[in-house]
Amino acid sequence: MTQAICLQCGTQTVGAFIPCKECHFEPASEEARAKSILLSDHFIRGEGLKETARVIQSGGAVQFPEAALASVVEKLSRKRVSSPSGQRSRPRVAAGLACTALCFFLALIFFT
Ligand SMILES: [Zn+2]
Repeated sequence: MTQAICLQCGTQTVGAFIPCKECHFEPASEEARAKSILLSDHFIRGEGLKETARVIQSGGAVQFPEAALASVVEKLSRKRVSSPSGQRSRPRVAAGLACTALCFFLALIFFT
């Protein structure tokens, strides 16, 4: 299961789009969903996820690299309109996600 962090209160949640059990925040907009994905273990591993949760819990703002955010938003909107033929483009999506993760980590290192 995906470990994610609530955008609003920093509580760890299971699944990026699951309503938070603490504050009941649910990422409804595409941007909020994209941010939730970026704050999940798909992009941040182990301690990094806890550290990000601490930042939100202490009232700090998380910097989302614009390129990574835009890329995830675009993938989300593409997924919504994609037909069954989307199966063929899966390896390309995986490569894109890997690239996004790399950009995110570089930006994370750069911003911290
Ligand atoms: Zn919450």
